Amino acid sequence: MSLQPSLTPLNGSICLEKGCFECCKETEMMLTGKDIERLEKLGFKREEFCIKDGNFLKLRNIKGLCFFLDLEKGLCTVYENRPEGCRLYPIVFDLLRRKCVLDKTCPYRDMVSEEELLENCETVQLLVARLIRGAP
Ligand code: SF4
Repeated sequence: MSLQPSLTPLNGSICLEKGCFECCKETEMMLTGKDIERLEKLGFKREEFCIKDGNFLKLRNIKGLCFFLDLEKGLCTVYENRPEGCRLYPIVFDLLRRKCVLDKTCPYRDMVSEEELLENCETVQLLVARLIRGAP
């Protein structure tokens, strides 16, 4: 029996292996108050890394790439502290269909199993509810 964790975009393993950072291009990832607090504790200023979009705060893109992406390495520079939405990606909540789906931008979305989708869906829904309420 293999003790190796399975390759999946959820833990970033397949992204690392393939050098993929598709989800960090033109990101529209929304940020919770806790995300902002955590990133500020690393020394970043919120006006550097986030933008206001209506009632929401989102990651800022610089030349089409997330503020936190190291383009040369193709890596997230705040991986351990990345936003909650980035941790759950490619699982997103489709507000129109009112269900969790795998985002089409991720080329490795098919590696997320149905079980992983179901296991994480409640967390995704709670995150979306917090973002909509503007709760931390
Ligand atoms: S915070 Fe990190 S994982 Fe999230 S979009 Fe930016 S570079 Fe990618």
